[in-house]
Amino acid sequence: MSQLDELYREVILDHYRNPRRRGTLSGNHLHAEGNNPSCGDEFALDLVVENGVITDAAMQGQGCSISQASGSMMMDAIVGRSVDEVEDLMRKFKVMMTIEDGDDPLDPDRPGSVLGDLEALQGVRKFPVRIKCADLAWATLEDALAQAGR
Ligand code: ZN
Repeated sequence: MSQLDELYREVILDHYRNPRRRGTLSGNHLHAEGNNPSCGDEFALDLVVENGVITDAAMQGQGCSISQASGSMMMDAIVGRSVDEVEDLMRKFKVMMTIEDGDDPLDPDRPGSVLGDLEALQGVRKFPVRIKCADLAWATLEDALAQAGR
């Protein structure tokens, strides 16, 4: 395993063991649920959108480390951001997950990286069946945002 793979593995395991914003929200919020039958992953999301900004979020779910770590990283990435920024982030995440081996990899040390910890998931590309695990949280987020009329 390369040093980078090792680092990515640690980031994923950290999010899996210490998920960010796990729980539920009370009060008015959007809710969406998703699952990935090919792996048995489940993910649910509570989301508060105010004036086009995601002001609060909470996640529930169970499944493999990739699916749950992806959700935890997504929580870190979206709260406090505008819906426009988050939609841009979603696009960048999808691009990252569909880069073919042999394409230029993303450089995690480059300045201004917006994906942050999420870049640890790019190693998942090597295992196409697991891409659905990494995508689950994001597909659920898309559902929640659709309820907000996006
Ligand atoms: Zn999975």
